[in-house]
Amino acid sequence: MVSSTTRTAAITIIGGGIMGAVLAYQLARRGIGEVVVLEREAVASGSIGRATGGLRQQFADELDIIFAREGLRFYRQFIAEMQAEVVPTSPSPPPFYQYGYLFLVSDDASWQAMQGYVALQRRLGVPSELLTPQEVERRWPGLHLITDDLRGASFCPTDGYTDPAAMTHALMGAARRLGVVVYEQSPVVAIRTTQGRVQAVQTPQGALATPLVINATGVYAALTARLVGIHDLPVYPLRRQLYLCEAIAGLPAELPMVVDQATGFHFRWRDGGLLLGLPHQPSPEEEAASRALAATAFDLSLDPRVWPQIERVSTRRFPALAGLRLRRAWAGLYEMTPDEHPVLGPTEVEGFLCASGFSGHGFMHAPLAAQLLIDYLTTGKSSTLAIEQFSLQRFREGRLLPATRLL
Ligand SMILES: Cc1cc2nc3c(=O)[nH]c(=O)nc-3n(C[C@H](O)[C@H](O)[C@H](O)COP(=O)(O)OP(=O)(O)OC[C@H]3O[C@@H](n4cnc5c(N)ncnc54)[C@H](O)[C@@H]3O)c2cc1C
Repeated sequence: MVSSTTRTAAITIIGGGIMGAVLAYQLARRGIGEVVVLEREAVASGSIGRATGGLRQQFADELDIIFAREGLRFYRQFIAEMQAEVVPTSPSPPPFYQYGYLFLVSDDASWQAMQGYVALQRRLGVPSELLTPQEVERRWPGLHLITDDLRGASFCPTDGYTDPAAMTHALMGAARRLGVVVYEQSPVVAIRTTQGRVQAVQTPQGALATPLVINATGVYAALTARLVGIHDLPVYPLRRQLYLCEAIAGLPAELPMVVDQATGFHFRWRDGGLLLGLPHQPSPEEEAASRALAATAFDLSLDPRVWPQIERVSTRRFPALAGLRLRRAWAGLYEMTPDEHPVLGPTEVEGFLCASGFSGHGFMHAPLAAQLLIDYLTTGKSSTLAIEQFSLQRFREGRLLPATRLL
């Protein structure tokens, strides 16, 4: 709740997800002060608390690779710095399981394309490699792959996975120690503007005077933007489901994130069990409801059609996965944009900035997004990527960014 002592903030971040946490931490670390985070439920209660936690640099698109490369570097450095602190910090960052990502490719066209993606990744400094089916069998004999129709695989040993909610809590904890004030159970319900400038945000507990608001509300970003009269922020939900199963004996201990590229089926270890996912296509009706931001599109109940598909897809390629025993399952929401790249930076409302729309890659991409926003706030320009290309304006003018999706 917004206390009676904190009535002003130089910078107000709405949303205590990974974007809010990385931004708060990086702002505080650089001494750009008086930062308040307002979270309507609890830190990491949004999409990041339901995510897989994958950190991969194997993308098909240059921008995605650049974002992910920086994300990985940032988290590794954060973990190392927190471990080096004389007094152990709490909550401490989770371990990063750097066992790689392994993409299995089974048709000629995809294999052709994958060779181009790996060449692009290598050009951008990512150490991905192409493997034959025989090399995959030799390196991970415990996978017991069916390789009859496998054309090959791509593998990046520096990719990996971690616990995304624990990382968010660790970052927010570090930000708090550096002076950031974080209020949970504090939904922003109104934003006051005068003459096109942000003046204050309103929560049920009270108002906070602030000249600068950063909209880091994930899949709810379009609804938050409406509070300042912006009705066309194109961020909309896409439901994804994850399944945590009992462990299967014999799988390698250092299991990479394994992805069957044809179907998108993927799995990795988590909490002593196997975490599995399979992207499923929404129906045209579901798609329309998402674009219209209908209440049903934010539904987090499980679609029962997905689990039978997982059983079918998984055992065809990995017979060792037959007879999976489900421990629990949950759904979460990707926060999509029309070109699957984020919306970052200023809007026509002075003091209202966007930081959302990571289209299912926000854990990896938030650190560079935070950096670009801070560069914009401090110097007006960035040494890495021009923030202007991620503006809301691009959708209005039909200047969508190129995007090639690998998964
Ligand atoms: C199943 C699944 C798997 C995923 N796997 C990966 C992965 O492997 N790697 C990866 O990089 N990404 C992954 N993602 C995507 C990733 O979780 C998101 O891109 C990321 O969480 C976006 O971060 P965010 O901080 O913008 O949003 P969120 O994490 O959703 O945080 C937004 C916060 O804003 C708060 N909020 C909303 N409205 C208000 C308001 N009015 N006032 C105050 N607070 C408000 C919410 O409560 C929430 O806590 C996955 C997502 C899902 C669903």
